[in-house]
Amino acid sequence: MAKRAQGPGDSTRAVHGGERDHQATDAVTTPIYQTSTFWFRNSEELRRFQEGKIRRDEYGRYGNPTWRAVERKLCSFEGAEAAVLFASGMCAATTIFLALLPKNSHLVITSDCYRRTRQFIRQYLTKLGVETSVIDPADTKQLADAIRDETAIFFTESPTNPYLRVIDLKEAVKVAHARGVKVMVDSTFASPVNHRALGHGADLVIHSATKYLGGHNDLLAGVALGSTEAIAPIREAVGVLGGVTDANSAYLLLRGLKTLSLRMERHGDNGLRVARFLEEHPRVRRVWYPGLESHPDYEVARRLMRGFGGVVTFEVDADLEGTCRFIDACRIPYIAPSLGGVETLIEMPAIMSFWDLTPEERLKLGITDSLVRLSCGIEDSHDLIADLEQALAAVLQSA
Ligand SMILES: *Cc1c(COP(=O)(O)O)cnc(C)c1O
Repeated sequence: MAKRAQGPGDSTRAVHGGERDHQATDAVTTPIYQTSTFWFRNSEELRRFQEGKIRRDEYGRYGNPTWRAVERKLCSFEGAEAAVLFASGMCAATTIFLALLPKNSHLVITSDCYRRTRQFIRQYLTKLGVETSVIDPADTKQLADAIRDETAIFFTESPTNPYLRVIDLKEAVKVAHARGVKVMVDSTFASPVNHRALGHGADLVIHSATKYLGGHNDLLAGVALGSTEAIAPIREAVGVLGGVTDANSAYLLLRGLKTLSLRMERHGDNGLRVARFLEEHPRVRRVWYPGLESHPDYEVARRLMRGFGGVVTFEVDADLEGTCRFIDACRIPYIAPSLGGVETLIEMPAIMSFWDLTPEERLKLGITDSLVRLSCGIEDSHDLIADLEQALAAVLQSA
C-alpha cells in the first residue's frame, strides 16, 4: 500500500485542518459567511489592500472565509500548497482547460472518462482550435506516441469511470514531463484518502467534491489542487469566469470532510465485500473493482492506492430488460446518478449517462446493456449483499 509522509494522520487533518484561522469569534466550527462583499474602514485600508500590504477579503467572487477554510483543509489532506474551490467538478475541469490551454494547442486524454468532460472537449475546446488525442488508460507507450510539440496537458481520471482503471501515474508523469507536458488528474473516484496524485508527480489534481469529499449527496462543488504557482492562474480564471461556490455549500463540504477518512474506510470495506460476492455469483458475468485480483490494474492499484473505494462496476448475465428488472428489484440502493455518498446508489449507464448514444456508439465506448455501476454507501455490508442476492434471484426467476 502507498506510504504517507510524516505528520498528523488523515483523521486529525480531516477534523482540524484549515479551521482555526477565523479570528472574529471563538466558535469551534467555522461560521457560514453569508455575504457577497466585504467593507473597508477607510480609503487608507483600501489602498494598503491594493498595494498588497494587507491580506483580507474584498468581494464574494474572489473569496469568502468559509470556502477559504475548505481550501486549507483540502490542502492539508492532499499535501498541496494551494487549492481553489469551484461551484462543481465540471466547473473545475472547464475553468482549468480555459485557463491553461493556449489557442491551437493539443490535449491528450484517456478514453474511459466522465462524459461531460469529453463533451466539453469536443464541443467547446475545438472552437479554440484545441485538438485532442484519446489514448488507452493503461498504455504509456500510447501516451508517448500521442504527445506533439504543441501538447500542453495530459488529462486522466484515476480510477476512471466506469471501469475503474488505475493509471500508473509515476510512469505517465515521467513520459509527459520529459516532453514538457503538464499532468492533470481527476481523482474523484479515489479521494485524497486513497490516492494522492500530487505525491506521484502530477501537476494538478481535481475532484468533484459532490462525491466522496462532500459525501452526503447534498451539495455540488469542485476543487483543484497543486503548487501555489500552478494554482495562481486558475484562481485568476475563476475570478473572471465566476464559477464560485456559495458559503452554505462550502460549510456542508467542511462538515462532510471531517468524516472523510472514516467514511472511506467503510466505503472501501463495503466495496471489496460486495465485489467479492458479485464475482462469485453465477448471474454476474464480470466485475470491475481495483481491489480484485481479476482487475487489469490490480497490481498498480495496490502500489499507488491505500484503498479502492465504494464503486463496483459489473455486468449482469441478462439483457437490457433483465438488467432493468435487477435494478428495480434492489431495495436499498436508490436508482440515481452520482457516487461517493453515504447512501448506496445504483445506475445503468446504458439508460442513464449514455442514454443519448446509439447502441453501436455505446459499445464502442464499452458500455453494454447489462452494465451496472454500484456506489456502495456506508450501510452494513451484510444488508447490501443480502439485497443484491435477492435482486439477482429475481432476475433468475423471471428469465
Ligand atoms: C461527477 C464527476 C465529475 C463532475 O462533477 P460535478 O460536481 O457533478 O460537476 C467529474 N469527474 C468525475 C470523475 C465525476 O465523477
